[in-house]
Order: sequence, then C-alpha cells, then structure tokens
Amino acid sequence: MPTQVPIKEGLFTWPSDEPVLLGSRCTDCGNHMFPPQGDCPKCSGSSTEVVELGRTGTLWTWTIQDFPPKSPPYAGNVDPDTYEPFGVGYLEMADKLLVESRLTLAEPDDLEIGMELEVTVDPLYVDDDGNEVVTFAFGPVGGAKSEAGASHD
Ligand SMILES: [Zn+2]
Repeated sequence: MPTQVPIKEGLFTWPSDEPVLLGSRCTDCGNHMFPPQGDCPKCSGSSTEVVELGRTGTLWTWTIQDFPPKSPPYAGNVDPDTYEPFGVGYLEMADKLLVESRLTLAEPDDLEIGMELEVTVDPLYVDDDGNEVVTFAFGPVGGAKSEAGASHD
C-alpha cells in the first residue's frame, strides 16, 4: 500500500484514523476560519489560534462536479476518458462557519441539504515519489465508503 500524504499540511489532522478538520479562531472576536489563517477578515485582528473544527458538518448546499475542473488549481484526474464525477458541498461547522469540501457521495439521490456528514480522506493522485496524495472530503457518518467508481471497469 502506498504511503498516503496530505495535499497540504495543516488542513486536517494527519496521519489519523479519524481525521479532524483544522481551522483557526480569532482570539479577539471569536470568528472561525477555514483554512487556518493568521488574519481575521471579520475584525482585521491578527491574533488567531489553530483549533479543531470537528469531524462532522451539516450539508448546507451541494452540487455534482460532473466535468473535470480546471487544472491547475485542481490536482486530481482531469482525463475526460477516466474522470469520475464527485460531489462538492458547503458544510456548516463550528460557529456557523461554511467549509467548501469535496464529497465522497456523487449521486444526487444520496445528498440532501441538512444531512450530517463526516470528515474522511479521499485519494486524489499518486505523486512522482509514488505517494498517494489525499485530500479531505465529507462522506456518510460512520465511515461507509462511497461505491462511486466501484462498478466502472
Ligand atoms: Zn476577529
């Protein structure tokens, strides 16, 4: 099994069997931010601390990305012949913070505004060193794996 490496350090706890999304919190006004940042857009303060945003979020809205995104910045597979559509959603987390995320669900029938989803990691691509690069994604609570792609051969 290839070594899994995060697409970017500091977005989620890693390595971890139960990854937690990391954000920052303004120590002046309490505003939460994702990804973590040093300056608060709400009060213009520059005193923030990294906090865990938790493992679950409430689906606020979603769509299906059914064609390859522009690359860069998208780092996953953009080959139209093998591209697999994936869900994209906004999850409401701590303090009403909305986090944009890839979803492991890609079927409209499986997605419903207001449902609770859980952080997991999703493989994106294999880098030049043979590492499997993973990003965070939200999927069913309890870790049920998406069947997307399983029947495509
Ligand atoms: Zn602030």
